[in-house]
Amino acid sequence: MSTLNVQLGDRSYPIYIESGVLNNGALLNRHIKGKQVIVVSNTTVAPLFMERLCASLDPALQVSQVLLPDGEEHKTLAVLEQIFDRALQDNHNRSTTVLALGGGVVGDMAGFAAASYQRGVNFLQIPTTLLAQVDSSVGGKTGVNHPLGKNMIGAFYQPQAVFIDPDVLDTLPPREYAAGLAEVIKYGLICDPAFYEWLQHHRDDFVARDKTVLGEAIKRSCAAKARVVAEDEREGGVRAILNLGHTFGHAIEAAQGYGSWLHGEAVSAGMVLAARLSVNQGWITDAEVARLVQWLEAMSLPTAPPDNMSVDTWTEHMLRDKKVIDGRLRLVLLEQIGKACIVDDLPQAELEAFVATFSP
Ligand code: NAD
Ligand code: MG
Repeated sequence: MSTLNVQLGDRSYPIYIESGVLNNGALLNRHIKGKQVIVVSNTTVAPLFMERLCASLDPALQVSQVLLPDGEEHKTLAVLEQIFDRALQDNHNRSTTVLALGGGVVGDMAGFAAASYQRGVNFLQIPTTLLAQVDSSVGGKTGVNHPLGKNMIGAFYQPQAVFIDPDVLDTLPPREYAAGLAEVIKYGLICDPAFYEWLQHHRDDFVARDKTVLGEAIKRSCAAKARVVAEDEREGGVRAILNLGHTFGHAIEAAQGYGSWLHGEAVSAGMVLAARLSVNQGWITDAEVARLVQWLEAMSLPTAPPDNMSVDTWTEHMLRDKKVIDGRLRLVLLEQIGKACIVDDLPQAELEAFVATFSP
């Protein structure tokens, strides 16, 4: 088993990465403080893993289950209430533990429920998608969507522990798996050139979902995220580099209608755009971008945006991004492969000319 620590003072917590961690009752139970547990999952994930998880929990615990409907469209305040309803109906008190079993949608919703139920209760994460294992379960961002914007209602709330089982990825649909890989590759690009090389070296192992290689990649990704989050928990500065490809990516997701492109797919194309814009600054080379593109393609990830987005559509969606501060768009670009930087002084005209090259 590998154990990492997210260093956040008195809110520090461990990330355990181990094949079969779902069956490791001794470890799981050690992190449950009170006598009550609310397991939050969804209708797709629960049939796969709920029984195994519950069999690992101490039989003396009072366990309630909440199965949310599956899908980003259900990441709403209305659906969140199902968690509070169950918690209150089953008399969960302030020492209860909320345990998230699922992908990023379940994790974000369960985390926000844990942050707000009785003003905050214990929270544990068991992420079951690659994206949730390397990204959303670490760092403490929780919340739900609003009809007027994604993730607009939420809280920073760190879990007390994260349990990652690479074995659960066996059942993940191919597109979801590839979408998670895009975020893995992102860590190499923004802050770890050696990891970037290692990932490329193992690209066939990723296609084959080799568990040893996946475990190592998850560990190095979580370590990268943990380092960045420890430095800047609330995204006042360096945490923004985690958004490489995301400003372009969010514009793609929003313009195409959420759900048609997966987030990781949009990030994949967005990273290529950020890389191309970095070439225009003279920072990285065309050959480096070509190598990235070829690799992402081998992972079945998109490397170009859809060709139906006008310059106005691009700029409108990019300026609506949460990364805009006082009207200034902050873009994450690549100073080098393996080193991201934040650029907030790119002339609007240059950005427009750039996206125009991808527009109809
Ligand atoms: P998701 O939670 O919707 O999961 C994707 C699909 O895979 C779902 O249908 C789910 O039911 C299914 N699934 C999950 N585990 C499975 C398994 N082991 N086998 C088979 N199917 C499985 O999507 P996601 O990509 O995990 O997460 C996306 C969400 O995460 C978005 O809402 C996004 O806003 C959020 N997010 C949050 C953060 C953060 O820092 N909190 C970071 C990135 C993304
Ligand atoms: Mg992301």
